[in-house]
Amino acid sequence: MENLDIARLRADFDGRAVTPEDPDYDQARTVFSALFDRRPAVIIRVADDADVARVIRLARDTGLDLAVRSGGHSGAGHGVCDGGIVLDLSLLKGLDVDVDGRTAWAQTGLTAGEYTAAVGSHGLATGFGDTGSVGLGGITLGGGVGFLSRRYGLTVDDLLAADVVTADGERLRVDADNHADLFWAIRGGGGNFGVATRFQYRLREVGPVVGGMLMLPATAETIRSFVAEAEAAPDELSTIANVMPAPPMPFVPAEHHGQLVVMALMCYSGPEEAATRVLAPFRALATPIVDMLRPIAYPEMYPPEDPDYRPVAAARTLFTETVDGDVAEMIVERLRTSDAPMRVVQLRPLGGAIGRVPDDATAYAHRRRRIMGNVAAFLTGPDDLPAREAWVEEVAAALRQGDESVYVNFLADEGADRVRAAYPGSTWDRLVEVKERYDPANLFRLNQNIPPKT
Ligand SMILES: Cc1cc2nc3c(=O)[nH]c(=O)nc-3n(C[C@H](O)[C@H](O)[C@H](O)COP(=O)(O)OP(=O)(O)OC[C@H]3O[C@@H](n4cnc5c(N)ncnc54)[C@H](O)[C@@H]3O)c2cc1C
Repeated sequence: MENLDIARLRADFDGRAVTPEDPDYDQARTVFSALFDRRPAVIIRVADDADVARVIRLARDTGLDLAVRSGGHSGAGHGVCDGGIVLDLSLLKGLDVDVDGRTAWAQTGLTAGEYTAAVGSHGLATGFGDTGSVGLGGITLGGGVGFLSRRYGLTVDDLLAADVVTADGERLRVDADNHADLFWAIRGGGGNFGVATRFQYRLREVGPVVGGMLMLPATAETIRSFVAEAEAAPDELSTIANVMPAPPMPFVPAEHHGQLVVMALMCYSGPEEAATRVLAPFRALATPIVDMLRPIAYPEMYPPEDPDYRPVAAARTLFTETVDGDVAEMIVERLRTSDAPMRVVQLRPLGGAIGRVPDDATAYAHRRRRIMGNVAAFLTGPDDLPAREAWVEEVAAALRQGDESVYVNFLADEGADRVRAAYPGSTWDRLVEVKERYDPANLFRLNQNIPPKT
């Protein structure tokens, strides 16, 4: 911290430098997961690309750690560090929509929800994940799996260009024709190669969708059939099924609270009559406990969130090829016998447009994986962590059935082998080469790190 001249820093930046003496320091160092209570030397809320280049120079000159933060949702806590510099993009909220050209340039301080609401007013959308408060920065650079993925592919499949400030402070326009190696790498390779300040996305015409939540009682048979139906459904339907004890929410009848349910978030992006037909087999699996599937404007898929919600959970991510009867039995049994206050097995049937892109087209290269899974157990306090970690690991191992591959954006801080598992085959070697070219000193290392060769 002694190598930082704070007065100089405040004068140098167009944005704002927040230090431990500032009243909003605690708020500024807070990230989504309450597992990470870290105290950086300074958080710099950058105002423009020149500020980003200055922060990069500062990190290089001082040798301090550099954390880059967009929406702060990293499950590994990469958006904040102890004693180092946080480059906070949250003031960068510019959005330039070309309605006729069906593209938008978005600064990376925007969240998925903010972007979706703004372009949604034109009946347009780009697909992100299931949560509006996630930042465009992290979700885009890792891949982006959500409500439109089976229809239009991952977020990176609608990424057309980016502005990236590299480790030497240079700003590059990156697209299919310019720095194509870097353009390939940032579509799945995370924050390893520079700071993205703007993304250009393709916009899709997404009128009203039929979407929302369907809750069914969870038995092995409803889980198995639900996943089978979701995989067989047309691409217009993307589904995220959470198998979990029913939360005590006002719209859930009291007799179901705590009982195992399939709480599915579903989005059919197509006409209502077709949606009714496609959703009928799901509704017929059991008498729904809650059926909130209805025609809505697409941005309503991101309901308002409690800004103070800061969960603490152990989590594991995985891919699996099948949820057959035995696997479904295992899910029910493990969820029933866990004593975590809240635990969930999330299943995301993939396929559709995700799988129609070649594996080597982007650094996200798990195109043919059939189902993404996430297992989480919430903690009541830090002492819980070892037991919850053991539980999620055991359930994840049973689900993945030997498939070690993972989606980088759902990794916690799980070590080098797990990062390696996010990038199969030659993808890893290619990423290492690009890293070597653009960040040979590994300045951008507080991330799911792809180290340079040397
Ligand atoms: C509640 C919740 C729901 C989620 N749902 C989904 C989902 O449905 N689908 C899905 O695909 N993912 C989902 N995720 C995972 C999410 O995509 C990742 O955690 C993502 O990294 C978060 O992005 P962020 O910008 O909010 O996080 P941050 O913590 O700000 O950033 C994460 C990392 O990304 C890098 N980074 C971020 N912005 C930039 C930038 N502009 N330039 C360079 N590097 C940058 C940095 O290395 C940073 O450490 C979810 C996460 C949470 C917590």
